[in-house]
Amino acid sequence: MAKHPDVAIIGGGIIGLTCAYFLAKAGLAVEVFDRGDMGKEASWAGAGIIPPGNPVAAATPIDRLRAIGSMRYPGFSAELRELTGLDNGYLRCGAIEFLEDDPTEILDVWRAEGIVYDRLHRQVREVIAPGLGDVPGEPYYLPDCAQVRNPWHLRALIAACEQMGVELHPHAKIDRVRRTSSGTAMELVGVRTHEANRVLIAAGPWSEELLRRHASPGVHPVRGQIVLLKTPDRVFSRVLMLGKRYLVPRIDGHVLVGSTEEPEAGFEKANTAEAVAELIGLAVRTVPALANAELVKCWSGLRPGSPDGSPFIGPVPGWDNVFVATGHFRAGVQLSLGTAQAVTELFTGKPTCVPLEAFAVDRKPHSGGKAAFRS
Ligand SMILES: Cc1cc2nc3c(=O)[nH]c(=O)nc-3n(C[C@H](O)[C@H](O)[C@H](O)COP(=O)(O)OP(=O)(O)OC[C@H]3O[C@@H](n4cnc5c(N)ncnc54)[C@H](O)[C@@H]3O)c2cc1C
Repeated sequence: MAKHPDVAIIGGGIIGLTCAYFLAKAGLAVEVFDRGDMGKEASWAGAGIIPPGNPVAAATPIDRLRAIGSMRYPGFSAELRELTGLDNGYLRCGAIEFLEDDPTEILDVWRAEGIVYDRLHRQVREVIAPGLGDVPGEPYYLPDCAQVRNPWHLRALIAACEQMGVELHPHAKIDRVRRTSSGTAMELVGVRTHEANRVLIAAGPWSEELLRRHASPGVHPVRGQIVLLKTPDRVFSRVLMLGKRYLVPRIDGHVLVGSTEEPEAGFEKANTAEAVAELIGLAVRTVPALANAELVKCWSGLRPGSPDGSPFIGPVPGWDNVFVATGHFRAGVQLSLGTAQAVTELFTGKPTCVPLEAFAVDRKPHSGGKAAFRS
């Protein structure tokens, strides 16, 4: 590794690590710094839902970013497995989304993007997803929805980064970034000082603190609580999406039930009795057979929220050689591949797969327009 890596990344979550892997693959020398263990925050905590998508017809830049992920996940999962021998649990399991309000607008978005879906009538629902309770809303089947198991995906991603020569620095909190006194490189100041030619801030909800002297885009934590249940055999096989809540069945009988959206909790990661009771109640009403499931554990993660729900990707205004990739809110797993592709294109002087103005740090918050999926 050169004395100055080409790129130092602050934050070893799914965004920082995926960018590191893509950049290293493009031939750049990369180091990643995390204040804790790599990949143990929101990226570990999430449910791993990968909605379907078609990048060619996606209506908005964020839908395009998601669709790139949707298209690339199968190949990327195979690439990680070949390189590391580790399976990330990628599974095209399909999903049923229960749409409660007038579905016209969202169905128009899906149709325009070419997303395959089917309105499920009762008998068909019994075949696709037997044993469901009385769930409010109209059920729509999305056969191309997939999932990964976050801890497995991160384990594979960390191993792949190491194989590509990325230098990982766990337990290395960076307090601030500044230009070196000679002005030729950037300095990352923590317990030790490190130099790099360029810096990418991918520190999740903590990014705001690192950006503070130059920008205040409004990245903030949004707690999401999850409950993990287990049945001896899998009792349903599709992801069930109910507004902001969902049930994700793993192949071995585990079921993730998520998730709350609690910006008021700040950086507090505790679980609360009320939220856990609500999630368990939802699970049992939706799939009555879960009443006897084992309650394995609960946890929460801090999503990096942004004022309009879209990420920030690109240069930090007024700060040469400092870039950001954060604010992916409910969708960092599905957006990680598109984000890493765009960052790599930017750093290697190629046209980017999405217009980065849409994700600029100093943009006006987007308004209106229905996103194709919540998470
Ligand atoms: C309950 C829940 C369910 C979710 N479900 C889904 C889903 O189904 N599909 C989906 O696509 N997304 C989902 N998400 C969202 C997704 O998990 C996040 O958008 C994504 O993990 C954000 O990744 P990140 O790398 O930006 O942030 P993080 O995972 O938070 O990583 C940031 C890293 O930066 C490090 N760091 C912070 N400050 C510093 C510093 N000063 N110096 C060094 N390191 C620092 C942290 O230790 C951390 O490891 C879910 C999130 C939650 C919480």
